[in-house]
Amino acid sequence: MTPDAPPVSVGVLREHDGAGGPASSGAGERRVALVPEVAGRLVREGFAVVVERGAGSAAFFPDAAYEAAGAVLGDRSVVLAADVLACLRVPDAGLSPSLHPGQVVVGLLALGGHAEEAHALAAAGAVALDLALLPRTLSRAQAMDALTSQASVAGYRAAIVAAESFGRFFPMMITAAGTAKPAQVLVLGTGVAGLQAIGTARRLGAQVTGYDIRPSSADEVRSLGATFLRLTSAPEGAGEGGYARELTEDERAAQQAELAGHVARFDVVITTAQVPGRRPPVLVTAETVAAMRPGSVVVDLGASALGGNVEGSVPDERVVTPGGVTLLGAGNLASELPTAASSAYARNVAAVLRAVVRDGRLDLDADDDVIRAIRVPALEEVRA
Ligand code: NAD
Repeated sequence: MTPDAPPVSVGVLREHDGAGGPASSGAGERRVALVPEVAGRLVREGFAVVVERGAGSAAFFPDAAYEAAGAVLGDRSVVLAADVLACLRVPDAGLSPSLHPGQVVVGLLALGGHAEEAHALAAAGAVALDLALLPRTLSRAQAMDALTSQASVAGYRAAIVAAESFGRFFPMMITAAGTAKPAQVLVLGTGVAGLQAIGTARRLGAQVTGYDIRPSSADEVRSLGATFLRLTSAPEGAGEGGYARELTEDERAAQQAELAGHVARFDVVITTAQVPGRRPPVLVTAETVAAMRPGSVVVDLGASALGGNVEGSVPDERVVTPGGVTLLGAGNLASELPTAASSAYARNVAAVLRAVVRDGRLDLDADDDVIRAIRVPALEEVRA
């Protein structure tokens, strides 16, 4: 940055619950958008970093660590005046009177589910950069890929919470008191989160099977020492850009019916299936859950207000069915590993910050393909 220009300031809000309430929309959020190490790097590069007191405490980053890194601590009102707000979630609509025109808000904003907050940003004249819109296949964008960094954490955590809720061992155990069979784990959807879940369940000693409608994922599943489940009735569903396509109703019914025959023989099922911009597909129906053995555990990473991969799962809740199957609605597992998730996220945010500052000034260059893709064009038109 040029030495004479005032530094571009970056504000970090406290998004977890605490006195005065969280600054953003996510109940139970524990992550923070910048961690001290990354804040320090940004300060050395010429940014001014302003952190709301307590912003990192739920992720085990104390205020003193931010100060030691060269950030300034402040009240929420001071942070809200920054040129750029670095967030996990969209700021609460009630904060918009404190925002100013041209202010940049960057985060995993999910505005489709938060129309009120989107309108509030529009009313303030703020510019929203939504990391969920990132063109992930562009190599330049990979350092900014928060969906991938957070899905990785969530996939790891899914295997851990499954093991925690399961009444038996994951590994085979040979002891004087007898031999325990290894847990049988099925991972449905083997993208970023699913592959991490497979790797983690394998490291815990389970026997793991993976399934995806993208046939290209079979080799990745096998390379982790897991078995790939091939369905005969369901079609292959590779869509654009390496993602899955949405199945037709008939295809979905055939897939659910064939999966039902497999799911009941597994002890643990972890589902991660998503189709960008659409409701997550239902892969495990209520009848399939009812056919599972008592003590089985199902972790639904797709669980959200829009519905999930598993009928009967409730976002952020543990449901035990009358048949003794535990359903974990796990829509925000990355927040349960807040230190690792925040560290990775902060690096993604720092990469975006470097892309929007030129010669010491904020510059949302309309010709930059990454910025053009993540900039939400018409905030006032967002509908929930
Ligand atoms: P995602 O979160 O959108 O979906 C998770 C998984 O669910 C995907 O593997 C998808 O195929 C699967 N799925 C969707 N519908 C399904 C159904 N009906 N039945 C079974 N499975 C279903 O995907 P993701 O994890 O973000 O990544 C998807 C792909 O994009 C992967 O190939 C990944 O490697 C690739 N990717 C590439 C980059 C990059 O190039 N930098 C970055 C991230 C992801």
